[in-house]
Amino acid sequence: MAPTENQSKNQKLRLQRFILGFVTYVMIWCVLGMAVALDVITTPVHRLVTYIALALAIQGLFLAAIIYNFNLRLRDPSMSAEQILVGFFWVVIAFTEAPELKGVIALVSIMVMLYSIFDFIRHSFYLVPCIAIAGMVIANLSYFLKYPYDYDWRYNLIEFISYSLIVTWVAIIANYSQKMRDRLKAQRQEIAKANRMLASLSLEDPLTGLKNRRYFDTHFDNEWKRAQREHTPLALIMVDIDHFKQVNDTYGHQAGDHTLQLIGNIFTKVVRRPSDIICRYGGEEFALLLPNTALDSAVDMAESILKRLRSANLQYRDQSISVTASMGVAASRPNPHNQSSDLLRAADMTMYRAKQEGRDRVAIAQELHLAALTKSAT
Ligand code: GH3
Ligand code: MG
Ligand code: MG
Repeated sequence: MAPTENQSKNQKLRLQRFILGFVTYVMIWCVLGMAVALDVITTPVHRLVTYIALALAIQGLFLAAIIYNFNLRLRDPSMSAEQILVGFFWVVIAFTEAPELKGVIALVSIMVMLYSIFDFIRHSFYLVPCIAIAGMVIANLSYFLKYPYDYDWRYNLIEFISYSLIVTWVAIIANYSQKMRDRLKAQRQEIAKANRMLASLSLEDPLTGLKNRRYFDTHFDNEWKRAQREHTPLALIMVDIDHFKQVNDTYGHQAGDHTLQLIGNIFTKVVRRPSDIICRYGGEEFALLLPNTALDSAVDMAESILKRLRSANLQYRDQSISVTASMGVAASRPNPHNQSSDLLRAADMTMYRAKQEGRDRVAIAQELHLAALTKSAT
């Protein structure tokens, strides 16, 4: 699977970190190389070369994992823990090979630890300083075994305690920086979630949970353009609940609100295609936008909604409320001679015609200037 844009950016960062990490290896091999060249340690050259070859092979694997995106399948794609552990493996080898230079190698090991500041894995908070201290114990043992008479335990004890305190301190700082990063990440996620919620709230009608007028206004144009691109008809049903004022006057505003919610539920039961858009257009008016729907089908849908509304037993507390609606249905196949506003006007005017003709009915757009629209849609 190709990585996303964000993943690619992270991979670039990981590659940079890998290169930074690689510098610490070069340091280790430089120290050991110089020690061999100047006869400070007795490690044979072929062993040193074998170590370097092995180290390069392991680094090659890390590099390949990043370049070919294998690391994205891992739980931690940064592979920080693995890279730090491999780094310490070489520090321990260096400690054993050159205990005489344990002071310098200790400094390089701090470089490896600093690398962990980038991504500190929780369990390595204990593991990394433990390995570092164990490495220093091994270095002291090797040194003692090599030069039992030269070993000044007081000097080495001070060095050991100081080293242990420093690596513990670095581990604490790395852990602290990780916690700060975690907190920042959590805050970023919360902000993103709040933004998503705000965006959806600003497009949703809080009473019915349907889309609101603002949503309709932006999506109506988009749907019109899509229909134009795909040469498909676009249908619009405008719905106005009849005598809704009377519902409020008779049963109260709360009952009216509840009724509007139940009406919204009826719409969502009948209008079921994922591409269909149900909006509360305002007050007790609703707009149903039906992409890729011809006039006949839209009329069928409007009839079926009306039937459901008539027979619905809308309950508020122990009262049963009945409603009817007037609907105007229009459909159009966008062409260079018409616009989205024509369709909206047609559906709206047709809805008013349904009112004039006695309410509780579905009227179909058929005004003269709409004849062309209707014909092209069917
Ligand atoms: P008509 O058949 O001509 O449409 O009559 P009507 O009473 O439905 O129309 P009118 O425009 O006179 O009144 C609309 C009513 O809808 C008045 C208003 O109180 C009510 N209404 C609009 N929005 C809400 C709402 O959110 N909640 C409640 N309870 N009522 C609302
Ligand atoms: Mg109205
Ligand atoms: Mg009304």
